[in-house]
Amino acid sequence: MSFISLGLSDEIIRAVTERGYTIPTPIQLESIPAILSGRDLLAGAQTGTGKTAGFTLPILHKLSDKSIKGPSSGRPPIRALILVPTRELAAQVEESVCGYSKYLKLSSMVMIGGINIKKQISRLRSRVDILVATPGRLLDHVQQKNIDLSHIQVLVLDEADRMLDMGFIPQVRRIVRSTPPRNNRQTM
Ligand code: AMP
Repeated sequence: MSFISLGLSDEIIRAVTERGYTIPTPIQLESIPAILSGRDLLAGAQTGTGKTAGFTLPILHKLSDKSIKGPSSGRPPIRALILVPTRELAAQVEESVCGYSKYLKLSSMVMIGGINIKKQISRLRSRVDILVATPGRLLDHVQQKNIDLSHIQVLVLDEADRMLDMGFIPQVRRIVRSTPPRNNRQTM
């Protein structure tokens, strides 16, 4: 089974081929078709198994699908939110998003604590399609009304078990409440 037969776009195949990936890993074989079909997904896999590409590639495919109509004018809203437990993971995931989307017209932002909040507010004024964030700082932006999560189509809780272990549940709950209701978004 190849990435092409999973139905991913040429631009995505080109980016993964350049990275040297020839065949999808087992988690990718299961997660990519499930996500492309619009289902919610709960998946478990160890680090190093290709989990990040397993959710990132189908998200990029969906967000860049020109047959799905977006706003006819103006800046598109944030459509995908990837919540992660740590700053390090946020940087890693965003690096993957950037790499896999290099041939697509999509823009991503990493939002973590310990970084000047004003710079993040100013970045939010330009286009962000995919936001990779840690819960604490994102909640600050939500509470200050710097960010609109009401157009989120895809919500990923990456390493959700670790977020729970780290005590992030109240923040995660509040953030999820700022996104569309469950039947109007895809959750992983
Ligand atoms: P992850 O489990 O998402 O942290 O990915 C672990 C590593 O596997 C990363 O360095 C990826 O670049 C790499 N990787 C992801 N998918 C594939 C694939 N299909 N073939 C080869 N390497 C991959």
